[in-house]
Amino acid sequence: MRIETELVRSGMKRDAATGSLTTPIYQASTFEHPRLGESTGYDYSRTANPTRTSLEEAIAVLEKGEVGVAFSSGMAAISAIFLLLEKGDHLIISKDLYGGTYRILEDIVKKNDVEVTYVNTENTEEIKRNVKENTRALFIETPTNPLMHVTDLHEAIAIAKEHDLLTIVDNTFMSPYLQQPLVLGADLVVHSASKYIGGHNDVIGGLVVSRCRELGEKIRFYQNAIGAILGPQECFLLLRGLKTLALRMDRHEENALKIAQWLEEQDLIDKVFYPGLESHPGYNVIKKQAKGFGGMLSFSVKEEALVPFLLEHLQVVTFAESLGGVETLITFPARQTHADIPEDVRNEIGVTNCLLRLSVGIEHGEDLIQDFKERFDEYKRSEVQHKAYTR
Ligand code: PLP
Repeated sequence: MRIETELVRSGMKRDAATGSLTTPIYQASTFEHPRLGESTGYDYSRTANPTRTSLEEAIAVLEKGEVGVAFSSGMAAISAIFLLLEKGDHLIISKDLYGGTYRILEDIVKKNDVEVTYVNTENTEEIKRNVKENTRALFIETPTNPLMHVTDLHEAIAIAKEHDLLTIVDNTFMSPYLQQPLVLGADLVVHSASKYIGGHNDVIGGLVVSRCRELGEKIRFYQNAIGAILGPQECFLLLRGLKTLALRMDRHEENALKIAQWLEEQDLIDKVFYPGLESHPGYNVIKKQAKGFGGMLSFSVKEEALVPFLLEHLQVVTFAESLGGVETLITFPARQTHADIPEDVRNEIGVTNCLLRLSVGIEHGEDLIQDFKERFDEYKRSEVQHKAYTR
């Protein structure tokens, strides 16, 4: 079955009693035991809940893995994965990285005597150079948040296999519709399901999929022990989101490409980071390992004063954190998603005060371009620019 069909079938026909087409929301914390020593398979919802099972099975099918586990957020999912690391272990991870992942490593994981090396995984030689005796895992975001660096998954996974490392891929930006890292040999895939999988900016959730059962059950054990579960209502919303994922991703991408091409030609813009542009260094790599380029892009502006101007004046595009929903959102990574990364580190990786990130929605692309065009024209006429020039 093709993924478009699998997506639509997510969670279908789970209720034999009524024939309900969608998985019902089992708003239950506990389940009656038929007899002493017997169970329906469900005892207590921290351990398992039928709506959650439906979502977990769906995401395992879509990512081509053995076990899916649904968490209360992307960070809860990433935290459970980091519990696989023990005292003395070493982790190699992408340098340009979601700020929350960086925070949990710096403030929590490192306290447990786990060593962390941030590497530009785009250059796979750097991964190789940093593998040590105690290296246990390689964690990759591709494309990265927010600079859209692309890592060659074939090469990175080959290095990990050679050194017996677990490969973990944060697939949030791509979704299983566009990229399936487990098929390429990764061990674990993680999602902030709050993004494209939910798709409507109305749910927070996280998903982990494991290629092998044993590792997946370990993650599930941690989840049950900690209790970082996704509630049945949220599971239902994610199942619903999955059904339209293919259509949404196609439209996100169509709009993102149009906007990226248009932005590249604007005199107020310094650089555009979108892997669907032939000028992007990761263009050929992403074409090799994914079905598309996605709906995320970032761009740097030539004048810092344009940043607040855009954030305050854009009308169709909304100034808000997060990504992957139907509405186009603009984010200022240095002050929002990546604020926990020290300024010198941010500047070194390129998350400067001139960088903006765009999560391109599914509106009409021309309306989005028009919004930018009008704001750029206003800016050029405004006092703000005058002040910037005379400073
Ligand atoms: N991974 C990536 C790439 C993200 O962008 C985010 C959030 O923005 C997360 C993980 C964390 O997910 P959540 O916000 O659902 O905890």
